[in-house]
Amino acid sequence: MAESTHPFHAETCKLLNILTHSLYTNHEIFLRELLSNASDALEKVRFLQSTGGELRDAGLPLEITISTDKEAHVLTVSDTGIGMSRQEMIDNLGTIAHSGSEQFLRAREAEKADAGTPQAEAVDGSDDGEGEKDDEPIVESDGRSNEDASQIIGRFGIGFYSVFMVAERVEVTSVPAQGDGTPHVWSSEGTGSYTLRSLEGAEAEGLKRGTSVKIFLREDAREYQEKYRLESVIRKHSNFLPFAIQLDGSRVNTTAALWREPKFSVTREQHNEFYKYLTYDQKEPLDVIHFSVDAPVQFNCLLYIPATPVDVFDERRDEWGPDLYVRRVLIEHQNKDLLPHWFAFMKGVVDTEDLPLNISRETLQENVVMRKISQTIVRQLLTHLERMAKNEPEKYGSVWKLHGKYLKFGFDSYQFRDRLLPLLRYYTTASEEKYSSLDDYVARMKPDQKEIWYVAASSIEAAKVNPHLGQFRRKGVEVLYLTDPVDEFSLESLMEYQKHPFKSVEQADAKALEAYPDAEGAEPRPEPLKEEEKPELDALIAKIKDILGDQVTEVRAAQKPIDAAACLVSPDGVSSSMEKLMRAMQKTDGIPRKILEINPDHALVRSLMALCAADPDDGTLKDMVLGLFDGTLLLDGYMNDPYAMAERSMRLLRQAAGWYAGLRK
Ligand code: ADP
Ligand code: MG
Repeated sequence: MAESTHPFHAETCKLLNILTHSLYTNHEIFLRELLSNASDALEKVRFLQSTGGELRDAGLPLEITISTDKEAHVLTVSDTGIGMSRQEMIDNLGTIAHSGSEQFLRAREAEKADAGTPQAEAVDGSDDGEGEKDDEPIVESDGRSNEDASQIIGRFGIGFYSVFMVAERVEVTSVPAQGDGTPHVWSSEGTGSYTLRSLEGAEAEGLKRGTSVKIFLREDAREYQEKYRLESVIRKHSNFLPFAIQLDGSRVNTTAALWREPKFSVTREQHNEFYKYLTYDQKEPLDVIHFSVDAPVQFNCLLYIPATPVDVFDERRDEWGPDLYVRRVLIEHQNKDLLPHWFAFMKGVVDTEDLPLNISRETLQENVVMRKISQTIVRQLLTHLERMAKNEPEKYGSVWKLHGKYLKFGFDSYQFRDRLLPLLRYYTTASEEKYSSLDDYVARMKPDQKEIWYVAASSIEAAKVNPHLGQFRRKGVEVLYLTDPVDEFSLESLMEYQKHPFKSVEQADAKALEAYPDAEGAEPRPEPLKEEEKPELDALIAKIKDILGDQVTEVRAAQKPIDAAACLVSPDGVSSSMEKLMRAMQKTDGIPRKILEINPDHALVRSLMALCAADPDDGTLKDMVLGLFDGTLLLDGYMNDPYAMAERSMRLLRQAAGWYAGLRK
């Protein structure tokens, strides 16, 4: 068949353009990508073999062969894997339908959008001492140097196309393991298009199953024709591939599947290396959990706790779960049945003897063996975390800080919630810098305190100004800070800890704290309102109602002691953060109508009462009431009309400054 030419898709062109023009010094990762593809292809053959599937050249060893030709500056990476048919080459090498590249492009767009000032200085990518570089550093149209933009290349599995960071031209020859087995050659210079042709007769002679990637090295990438260089790259990135990599006749990678080794024979260095290989995370893991179980099911489990935050919310929703192997054959990448979603931050591998290789994904989910493995792993992980929390609280604190947001979701696990509860950590009014457990809180409770109190807000700073908190401070009653939206949900659904119900400070009634004496150093309470002053208060309340109108459902005297001049209370007793969450879910914006409670013992309210008694229609009184309402709304997390607010406060300031200056004369 004659050669045909095919254009790349637009997205592919975009990616190729970035890669071919990249001055990314770390282009060695192209080899990692090619080897991982070869390994995937071999894995598929191993799978076919173990399930008795039909296969070309069934006797071929499963391995990867690398050869170099220094004269022609060619590097070839071949495998005896599953191969590709003509159509598969079009589908797999002609588009970037796989997630790695797409994520890369997305992340790059995001990073570009985030970038502040464009970098002015050009970056010279040649730090490897090769002086003959004649091309100028390429600066993209947005003014950022390409070096800078491609910092993120290494973080992603950009896949096959990364070869164009080092290749002038690439020729992929492939013989599919199944079907009619006609060999095809895919060829491209990584610009706008690629060509395809089939091999016949003499050309096809002697070709065995699998894929061979022939790379015509760019002048600035000739280092990859050197054996020592290739060896070091393979050891660095691909040491744990489950297939032999032969380089000029000798095997380079030596390490067997780490998870199958006895726990104590594996060094921390080996773990670090394996973890990096597995996750592309450059930071060493915070912790390693490695164990094997023989009964009731046999399996090996190797999991890591990353030292970097894991984000599997939103776009990367499916990017979690350990790789599931059966007798060293990869059955499923990122399996979701072995770990509950609240352990989604764990990375690693599970390998069992007790499952058939040809098990389908659907049956995996229902499988009893899987369930048993999962139960055992979850118990082991919980025990591990419990021990860490007890013996290495600092370390557990880091785990919580990074991954607590996942563990919190364990509140919906009926089976494990009792073990998860003691693992929860919070900052509290008594411990703002060091995490406390619920046990710590309970141990510090007042003698006859029943409730575990909490205040929910977007940050500790916001929580501290919650008007309902003042009374707790005065009485020295400890309060948990809940700063993650899920916190309040989780506590509400957990209801109690050791018979102590969780309760929001906003829901404390007048009597809740009465019994406790004021804490040392608390400011003395102002004189309570006298009986004969009540009518003035009622008049002020009526006036405030009049001024605020529809913005509130009711105005009344505070039902419980507060320190602030006023606070907002929801008519249905829902706490303000819960209400925000519900409003966000219902996509309601605007400001909710609530009850405004004013504190008759507060100096400001007393002055307003006097003003109101003197002249209820005083314009300054109105400004002050509106100002008080704005401030109270702000503390509740809402902003009314900022322009009106600023103007009013300027007016009040002008008056106050005038009076004060008069006073000082
Ligand atoms: P990914 O490996 O993430 O799918 P790549 O860009 O690395 O993305 O590869 C794209 C696809 O090309 C692979 O999914 C696979 O189908 C095919 N492919 C690449 N290399 C090989 C190979 N050596 N043997 C068989 N198929 C391959
Ligand atoms: Mg790949």
